[in-house]
Amino acid sequence: MKRSNSEQLFETAKQYLPGGVNSPVRAFKSVDGAPLFIKKGDGVNIWDEDDNQFIDFCCSWGPLILGHNNPNVREKVIETLHNGSSFGAPTRLENELAALVVENNPVIDKIRFCSSGTEAVMSALRLARGYSGKNKIVKFEGCYHGHVDAMLVKAGSGLVTFGESTSAGIPEGYTNETLVLPLNDLDAVKACFAEWGHDIACVIIEPIPANNGLLLQDKKFLQGLRELCTENNILLFFDEVISGFRVAFGGASEYYGITPDIVSYGKIIGGGLPVGAYGARKEIMACVAPDGPVYQAGTLSGNPVAMAAGIAQLEECIKDGFYEDQEERTQFFVNKINAHAKEKGFLFEMFTIGSIFWMAFSDKLAIRRADEIDGDMTSFKDLYGNLLENGVYVGPSGYEVGFVSQAHTKEILAEAADKFCAALDATFAK
Ligand code: PMP
Repeated sequence: MKRSNSEQLFETAKQYLPGGVNSPVRAFKSVDGAPLFIKKGDGVNIWDEDDNQFIDFCCSWGPLILGHNNPNVREKVIETLHNGSSFGAPTRLENELAALVVENNPVIDKIRFCSSGTEAVMSALRLARGYSGKNKIVKFEGCYHGHVDAMLVKAGSGLVTFGESTSAGIPEGYTNETLVLPLNDLDAVKACFAEWGHDIACVIIEPIPANNGLLLQDKKFLQGLRELCTENNILLFFDEVISGFRVAFGGASEYYGITPDIVSYGKIIGGGLPVGAYGARKEIMACVAPDGPVYQAGTLSGNPVAMAAGIAQLEECIKDGFYEDQEERTQFFVNKINAHAKEKGFLFEMFTIGSIFWMAFSDKLAIRRADEIDGDMTSFKDLYGNLLENGVYVGPSGYEVGFVSQAHTKEILAEAADKFCAALDATFAK
């Protein structure tokens, strides 16, 4: 595979950008070669600067649930742009996206838009503290909640990929207020609440942890967490930046039938443009400025072009059968690959939920906690090179998940599964 144009662009990028990138995992640090510079996406495909074509399962790390360059999203964005790009004043489009989300989600009464998942989590944590008058936040090992200071402790995503799960540059005082627990362990939650319950503002969790592998939680654990939070008067915060609009329109909360007190969204809600959001029931959201004392603002918050993209995308997602169809096609794809791996006796299994999948190099039947993942990512590195050679692109880290979009038809998924199996064969033949 020719990579010279990407290599050259990466050399230039490194002169100007730290690590040559604007977000760390993109740098291909844990896989071989220079990162591919992408110049175009359409449907399931992306093309790099060397004109290599790939079936894409990264989908911009999740936002593109309709695939690349979806015509409805594109047309609505262009139509909106004809009227200007930003006003810093309210627009009708904010009402439209807010209504679309709130009217179809029993968990939240009001929503506030911002520009990224990180911003949504950061703002919602402030809200949890402002509303409750308490200080501490409980998070879980391996969960990633964006690059919020207090959340960069034992976190997933780029931190686990680069082997340093806690960031430098964060005063101890900030992280002293963060309590980190293992996933899927109610006893640990009980013990923590017994000691600190009086000062815990909220428990934040990715209800479908997908930043440190896919660590599917037992439903009993999530239900137990809900009960314990209620009993102890502690807010339950579902960070649905990945799972929101992904496994169901109402995210993991709808999928599992569990009601959190606060939710954050990102990725899909913006249709590929920068949007984050957080929401809660009325009395909690009443604390947000200008109604209440918890300050939070943004020059580009609720940006009309981004709102337009979000509306166009969510209008597709809300159609009858959308999520069932996504899940069915994903199962078809995953089953084909798992059957091949099993038949060949490879130490490999794909885990999946909804249209999310993760490649585990393990024979464990379930992996629910970060410390249950075998640390060696050499096999992933080998597989990654072979996937690229076979025309399949996934996020360049073994801890990150892949995404199936509406554009991934069964026909394309059958073709992609064959390519995947060929890459597995090459990897394990060594
Ligand atoms: N929360 C979760 C669960 C995420 O997966 C991410 C990003 N992958 C974030 C928050 C941060 O979102 P963003 O990258 O848009 O800031």
